[in-house]
Amino acid sequence: MNNNKLLIIANWKCNPSTQKEAEHLFTAVKKEIRKIDKTEVVICPPFIYLPLFKQKRKNARQSNTIQLGAQNCFWENKGAYTGEISPSMLKDSGCKYIIIGHSERRSYFNEADNDINKKIKAVLKNQMKPIFCVGEKDRDSFDSEGKSINEMSLIISEQIEKGLAEISQSRISSVIIAYEPIWAIGTGIPCLPDDAMKAALLIKKTLTGLYNRSIAERVKILYGGSVISQNAIDYIKGANMDGLLIGGSSLNASEFIKIINRVIL
Ligand code: PEP
Repeated sequence: MNNNKLLIIANWKCNPSTQKEAEHLFTAVKKEIRKIDKTEVVICPPFIYLPLFKQKRKNARQSNTIQLGAQNCFWENKGAYTGEISPSMLKDSGCKYIIIGHSERRSYFNEADNDINKKIKAVLKNQMKPIFCVGEKDRDSFDSEGKSINEMSLIISEQIEKGLAEISQSRISSVIIAYEPIWAIGTGIPCLPDDAMKAALLIKKTLTGLYNRSIAERVKILYGGSVISQNAIDYIKGANMDGLLIGGSSLNASEFIKIINRVIL
């Protein structure tokens, strides 16, 4: 694992449907979390709940442990772009992290590598950290026998090369890469920890080609896809990942806290 902090990211997606429920969930997580020096927990709620959570976080003793993130952003800071939310607005709403290129954005909203590249650059320019999601669609692209590992490797390295185009050596260590095999997201079929480790090595190899080995070692790599309290530790201890990106399990406060308590260093 990268020797800095472990990152546990909650991606609430388009949930919950009311502010009351969102507040309840945030408060439940905040109440149970104790101060953890070497772990950062990041809640990424829908945009509209961020200002409220910024305020609640300010009043909390564990404000260093719970950080806020967003699930997407636009690439310009302001202008005539109806319906968009900009990086500077998100920074002002308390965000330190922004998820970019999640597979649901790629598939439902047609986000292409080029859009993702512009968003990553905009997040970095605004001094926040992008959580850049990559992953193959089909499980067959990565079978554990290694038969199709080349196919998976090509998909991931192309996403990384295009997503990180023109991002300089001085900025790359602020980028966090989340390996999220699409077939494992929300399906209850997690990737084998050994396979997640192989994917992380491929990501580091691609980064070494684009930058150099010592820079590649500094970039944090997370795993996401059907993480639950029973398997979370396998990715941290077993697969040596730098953290987790958690969807479904982050909507249940007690399950999410259980995950945190099982993986904290
Ligand atoms: C995700 O959407 O980023 C994710 C990992 O979802 P889940 O944990 O539900 O598979």
